[in-house]
Amino acid sequence: MSLASARHWVFDMDGTLTLAVHDFEAIKRALDIPLAEDILGHLASLPEALAAAKHAWLLEHERELALASEPAPGAIALVRELRERGCRLGILTRNAHELALLTLRAIGLDDCFAVPDVIGRDEAPPKPDPGGLLHFAKTWQVAPRELVMVGDYRFDLECARAAGARSVLVNLAENPWPELVDHFAVDCAALHRVI
Ligand SMILES: [Mg+2]
Repeated sequence: MSLASARHWVFDMDGTLTLAVHDFEAIKRALDIPLAEDILGHLASLPEALAAAKHAWLLEHERELALASEPAPGAIALVRELRERGCRLGILTRNAHELALLTLRAIGLDDCFAVPDVIGRDEAPPKPDPGGLLHFAKTWQVAPRELVMVGDYRFDLECARAAGARSVLVNLAENPWPELVDHFAVDCAALHRVI
């Protein structure tokens, strides 16, 4: 099936619909997390009280970033076009649900996503786990292969692969993960042109 006929689209948020502003290395340094480790994975391995304190710091840091979010090139027009076509639209983010809503409002896309279709790190196991995409397939009552996952990082692509969905990589100058990518577009504007 061509992307143009896809009716069920799931977007990563940070760095996909917004300009990338998260400095993950700085976050890891501030939270004393080894650079080679995954932030959420590391926090999950800590004793409860310490994990809670670090999660609270992360939430506050990310809230500031959310309020200052700017849309990625072509993101607004792409999402609005899909919305006008009557497509189902979802967000699957490793950010928190509440901050994802704040971010969508900051970039002016909050009217395009139903609140229950904004899935954060507390509503589903974080990507690359396929749980979030499988949740959308179940909620929207479609086979996972009907879903298109659009993202800017390998976790988005691995999540799509593991769920059996199609993967689109955006916002990189070239495609570093050809084995994981079904369609590559330099940005959302380029993706918009082929759908
Ligand atoms: Mg991202």
